[in-house]
Amino acid sequence: MRAYRLLDWQRAGFDEVPMPDPGPGEVRVRVGGVGLCHSDVIFLDSPAGVLPYELPFTLGHEIAGWIDAVGDGVTGVGTDEPVAVACMSPCGSCRWCRRGQDNYCVDTWHGRGFGTDGGLAEHIVVGAGQVVPLGDLDPRIVAPLTDAGATSYHAVKKVLPKIYDDSTVVVIGVGGLGAYGVQWLRILTSARIIAVEARPERIKAAADLGAHEVVEAGEGLSKRLAESIGGGGADAILDFVGSDATIRASMRNAAKAGAIALVGQGFGTGEVRYGAWAHDCDLFNPQGATIAELAEVIALAKSGDVVVEAEQFAFDDVEAAYERLKAGTLNGRAVVLPNG
Ligand code: NAD
Ligand code: ZN
Repeated sequence: MRAYRLLDWQRAGFDEVPMPDPGPGEVRVRVGGVGLCHSDVIFLDSPAGVLPYELPFTLGHEIAGWIDAVGDGVTGVGTDEPVAVACMSPCGSCRWCRRGQDNYCVDTWHGRGFGTDGGLAEHIVVGAGQVVPLGDLDPRIVAPLTDAGATSYHAVKKVLPKIYDDSTVVVIGVGGLGAYGVQWLRILTSARIIAVEARPERIKAAADLGAHEVVEAGEGLSKRLAESIGGGGADAILDFVGSDATIRASMRNAAKAGAIALVGQGFGTGEVRYGAWAHDCDLFNPQGATIAELAEVIALAKSGDVVVEAEQFAFDDVEAAYERLKAGTLNGRAVVLPNG
């Protein structure tokens, strides 16, 4: 079958790979859609010696499709059933998995499509416990829920205890992940949501998706954000960019006893010293989502209250889709269709 792979460092392309067969406890998924994530850009652009991978592997970690074969001992899922595939590929038996914290099973740099074969192929084989039934949702549209949706959901769930009815929360970067971040906050809280964006079309999208105010990114962000928050700081700030400027703005504008989730892998830095940010304010870098959280995300999407922004691309156009992602000209997630 055809697969789009990281063949060598800084060299990706199509290759023929054997059609995988499901072993005991596994299912094979005919891939419907694969969302392209900004982390893919890191995998595509990194020179040798940076990332802990053996090459080649098939890219694509936001995967949804239809089950088309089941291995021995698999019950409860039927052929042709539409499913979402969890992107982290947890083992199910380590101490994290046994606690139900399967997002910590492997490190941020290992999962399906980052280190092991992902979904930019006609088929993928996965553990039967790592798929979530989609019901009436279309795999060719909702694939981004598996990472953009679920990772932002995990981050929002972690800051929920900090959010009260009178809270202000901030979402920085309303792209693939941040678009869901705004929506989870709208659905799960009654806080005032301030979004920060750089691109005019995403400023508009942020407001459409539920942000009450949108602050423009760029020079002077910290001060503009403070004015918009209006004193006391934001009880939660979700930074989906992670540049020097956004980290600084987050640390200066988070409230006492609040939280800052640094989700974006912009690899910016901030200064850590006593008093550099508000007292008792948590600062953490969340990792992925559990399979249970993915199931909650799918349930919310089934309720019809979630906007899934997807621009679809033919398999042959995957490189053009990555170029659009890199150039920042997508308005919503690119979803590639490996089976047309
Ligand atoms: P994306 O390119 O779809 O979205 C980024 C958005 O941020 C865009 O809308 C862009 O206009 C906006 N932006 C850029 N610079 C900005 C700035 N200075 N201020 C405000 N907005 C700005 O990217 P994505 O796929 O949503 O990924 C977001 C980040 O999350 C990436 O760094 C990615 O690597 C990371 N990520 C982390 C995890 C995790 O588990 N922690 C998982 C997936 C992705
Ligand atoms: Zn594990």
